[in-house]
Amino acid sequence: MITSSFHPPRRTLMGPGPTDVNPRVLEAMSRPTIGHLDPEFVGMMEEVKALLQYAFQTRNELTLPVSAPGSAGMETCVVNLLEPGDKAIVCRNGVFGGRMKENVERAGCEAIIVDDPWGKSVDPNKLEDALKANPDAKLIGFVHAETSTGALSDAKTLVKLAHDYDCLAIVDAVTSLGGVPLKVDEWEIDAVYSGSQKCLSCVPGLSPVSLNERAQGVIRSRSTTVQSWFMDLNLVMGYWGSGAKRTYHHTAPVNTLYALHEALVVIKEEGIENAWARHAHHHRALRAGIEAMGLQFVCEEHERLPQLNAVTIPAGVEDAEVRTRLLHEFNLEIGAGLGDLAGKAWRIGLMGYGASETNVLHCLGALDAVLGGMGADIEVGQAVAAARAIYGD
Ligand SMILES: *Cc1c(COP(=O)(O)O)cnc(C)c1O
Repeated sequence: MITSSFHPPRRTLMGPGPTDVNPRVLEAMSRPTIGHLDPEFVGMMEEVKALLQYAFQTRNELTLPVSAPGSAGMETCVVNLLEPGDKAIVCRNGVFGGRMKENVERAGCEAIIVDDPWGKSVDPNKLEDALKANPDAKLIGFVHAETSTGALSDAKTLVKLAHDYDCLAIVDAVTSLGGVPLKVDEWEIDAVYSGSQKCLSCVPGLSPVSLNERAQGVIRSRSTTVQSWFMDLNLVMGYWGSGAKRTYHHTAPVNTLYALHEALVVIKEEGIENAWARHAHHHRALRAGIEAMGLQFVCEEHERLPQLNAVTIPAGVEDAEVRTRLLHEFNLEIGAGLGDLAGKAWRIGLMGYGASETNVLHCLGALDAVLGGMGADIEVGQAVAAARAIYGD
């Protein structure tokens, strides 16, 4: 019989998510649970929506957190905007573009794939070719920050292209929200989704989404009902919509929403532009250390995400052994490679609360010690000093 409580170890989370959670967020989460229709709770929901509008840089009224992780935000956008038989163009330059294709096909639709190599941004020219070849496409979808490879794509240009060809654009901003500039209104993004556990540094389990008027119009003029009852935004808005009667749809994850509220207040206090700049700053220090060790990045500099650093594993080094030692000897988690990059790259996250000097120096020191100890072909003892030089220490 199991009679003792579970006490997780204290880790430093520098993988692709979940990331280090701000202690303020954990404290907020432990406050008393109240009813999900309690007027006090409903007031907090309105604040969550306003704070999300700030984070997304939008005035979209339809901005809310879906009660499930980022994958549910993806599915919500796909199943509400597409009807069976529709055609969608999906850009794939990593794992998550592939998931969007799966979602489109499972919604009974045709997915036209625009492939780009792993580690590269989505190529606007290839997208334009696909738009020209498929004038009947209803929407395009792409991943702004491809967490599987560390590549950033030019969302503004891709969305503009979609509109030039009369398509809607769905943007995966799971890893970009809070980490790099994302301007939903200025870039005229029609539908965007994110996740709580990446650069928002909240606990996992929520997926903020935002849809503009044009996307809402498409949903209103559907001729079929959304096949997912849980994700049907018409029903969800009966609970989340302003002025709505707040009818019961599902039991909102009350305490997780306290956590999101606090995480968003933290971002508001800092200022979203300052959060973007902080991620870039700590990325520069990490990069200096990685390069001083003689290691290489998967992505070229102009396509690289500051918050997700894919680093090529040096020849002869056993991937799993390094990650296991980092975890057991340094309480440090970094990410393994996914898909095409499995065994070939590590993914070092600098997201949200974890984008800090403490984490950068800890990670570089630990990698240096482990790789040096294994006799890997790196410059030993240089990394921390190189990063400290960036910090002016
Ligand atoms: C993490 C991630 C997802 C999926 O989010 P979950 O919260 O794991 O469901 C989707 N897209 C991208 C780009 C991600 O990084």
